[in-house]
Amino acid sequence: MEIGTVPERLARNHYDLDEEESHIEVDQEVARRTGAAKILIAVCPAHVYSQAPDGTIAVEAAACLECGTCLAVAPPGSLRWHYPRGGFGVAFREG
Ligand code: SF4
Repeated sequence: MEIGTVPERLARNHYDLDEEESHIEVDQEVARRTGAAKILIAVCPAHVYSQAPDGTIAVEAAACLECGTCLAVAPPGSLRWHYPRGGFGVAFREG
């Protein structure tokens, strides 16, 4: 049986995005002062965070694997993260 690459396996997950209430919010001002972008971009295994041309942190919440790593390492006050409301978020198809 072919296992596939990590990106191929992640692509099998299903995401139900909560359009009304994002479970991830970046305080851009605190993030700018604390250099949070480098940290968040480096640690997120799903590439949820990226740096926009204007220097702010862009968030692609629909890719979040809900591992909590970003919450553990984000500079204080730079990130508000909670699990998605019931029924929303990632549904793992493998493992
Ligand atoms: S919880 Fe994990 S996958 Fe989701 S944004 Fe944070 S580091 Fe990325």
